[in-house]
Amino acid sequence: MQKIRVQDDLYEAVNGEWLEKAEIPADRPTAGGFSELDQNVEKILMNDFKELSEGTKTTNIKEMQDAVLIYKKVLDVKRRNAEGIKPALPILDFISDIKDVNDLNTKLADLTLNSVPLPFECGVEPDMNDARKHSYVVLGPSIILPDTTYYAKDNKAGAQLLDIWKNMAVNALNQTELSKENQLLYLNDTIKYDALIAQKVKSKLEWADYVKNYNPFKLDEVAEFLKPLDFKAYLKEFYTELPEQVIVYDPKAIKEFNFYFNEENFTLYKHWCYVKTLLQASTFLSEDLHDNSTVFRRALTGVEKEPVVEKQGYQLASMLFSEPIGVYYGRTYFGEEAKKDIVSLVKKIIEMYKERVKNNQFLEEKTKEKAILKLSTMEIKMGYPDSVNKVYSLLKVEEDDSLLKSVMEVRKALILDNINKLFKPVDRTEWAMPGHMVNACYNPSANDITFPAAILQKPFYSINQTVFENLGGIGAVIGHEISHAFDNNGAQFDENGNLANWWTEKDYANFKDLTKKMIEQFDGIDYHGGKVNGELVVSENIADNGGVAVTLAIMHNIKGASFKEYFENWAKVWCMKAKEEYIQYLLVNDVHSPAKLRANIPPRNFDEWYETFGVTEKDQMYIAPEKRIIIW
Ligand SMILES: [Zn+2]
Repeated sequence: MQKIRVQDDLYEAVNGEWLEKAEIPADRPTAGGFSELDQNVEKILMNDFKELSEGTKTTNIKEMQDAVLIYKKVLDVKRRNAEGIKPALPILDFISDIKDVNDLNTKLADLTLNSVPLPFECGVEPDMNDARKHSYVVLGPSIILPDTTYYAKDNKAGAQLLDIWKNMAVNALNQTELSKENQLLYLNDTIKYDALIAQKVKSKLEWADYVKNYNPFKLDEVAEFLKPLDFKAYLKEFYTELPEQVIVYDPKAIKEFNFYFNEENFTLYKHWCYVKTLLQASTFLSEDLHDNSTVFRRALTGVEKEPVVEKQGYQLASMLFSEPIGVYYGRTYFGEEAKKDIVSLVKKIIEMYKERVKNNQFLEEKTKEKAILKLSTMEIKMGYPDSVNKVYSLLKVEEDDSLLKSVMEVRKALILDNINKLFKPVDRTEWAMPGHMVNACYNPSANDITFPAAILQKPFYSINQTVFENLGGIGAVIGHEISHAFDNNGAQFDENGNLANWWTEKDYANFKDLTKKMIEQFDGIDYHGGKVNGELVVSENIADNGGVAVTLAIMHNIKGASFKEYFENWAKVWCMKAKEEYIQYLLVNDVHSPAKLRANIPPRNFDEWYETFGVTEKDQMYIAPEKRIIIW
């Protein structure tokens, strides 16, 4: 086989050999890149959980005790199988006993605390207009299929997936005390109800326009929309004083609430609620109910089988106790030296970003000053938090409770904690991601960037890699996160994390123009039989573009810099092999472009790419100068 040239396909040239040999683990949708790092972290922590549960290892993080108890309960397959569906019966009976809408009104708060889906979703979030305080937010309910687009008449994937979901529901319903006739009725009603909701809630593409979530309404107006539910009475269960204003994240779903919730279709809702709760609970019941409950998720992502029970135990503990486990991971495995090293790299990249803004061609002075202010005040969260958020000390896992009961209790405490935030100021020291997560993020409402300890590994970062490789890895990721402050969403927030227009009219028009070009650069690219939706992935592509731009600028300041090593490691971090189902899923649902395109498209915008590898119009990785885009 002829070797693929870098000039034709950077991603294949760098990763081809690995891609050919790599096998995707049976219990995962992907291999390589982020996934490989994640597997490493998982292996380390699974081993620690084993030792912690056996008492051969101890930790002074007391919240870890409860996480270990959850782990042990998952591993106690004998007890789970003996209990069967029993632990779910109290909540299922509670739902069955709801007589009518009036009765439902008296039970809404209880349902919320028990994680039972209501006809609307709600919670407390930082206010986009004043990031110091919280707001009460309301949105429509969740649908069964991952996106509204799957519900289109001609969408084959949607029809197939819904059949798989139905099958899964039938199997679970079979273990309840419902008669065969009722099982069928419940299932059909669930599908009917879900189809109604799907006509009103936002699509993934609409959700990607983050700023459009901010729709303030008077409480009275929202209460009116949500009739015949008594929204104010519901809130009074939690608050002595009611908020005057409610933020409606998807106005259509709330304004047209009556379309899917009214006196007539109360029963549809009730059956939908029963079946959804049953499947949700099944995850924490006997082995066969658990395995059945994962069938749909696995069909979506192409995962062949459930992980072994030890891994299930770790993964559940990791989900419920993410922060304590992240602090444990950080303290145990992340060195202070690495932390210092990367914080200084982040600062260097922020300084270079400021330089680039100063020399920017499309901005006027006034806008530049504001952008620089935003960079100067950006906060860095590196590795893991100093202490565990106090909510975790409120979580109690009782030895004698069933796994399901324990999970519900933990969730209840987390839900209450969220509810209780409403009239409290936003705590800016809170972390958006735990230390053991292989990821990084920018939070527009806090103007902060978070780099969990777990991403600070090879190939992203290593003291054994060259500085050029580190710049193409973690450097570009850092630049990417900073750029989110200036992507199509982030650009609408100021240095304090508030929605504010800090642009001159002309500058914003220019920026919009560049955003449009970025949409076009990716839109409609064929990928595994599907097409990239340029609008869905634009914010991430602006961030990738900015990440490469700022790190390449730093490369120029280093004598003898190897741009070859830079670009090769950039391609390496995106190395990913994925199940075909998962590729299709991501194309519709993910705001990131496919990993291969993230490796191959951004470099083409930069002169350094052409100079380093002598890329000309004869090569596949060439684009004409007038098509090249550099935004930041
Ligand atoms: Zn991003």
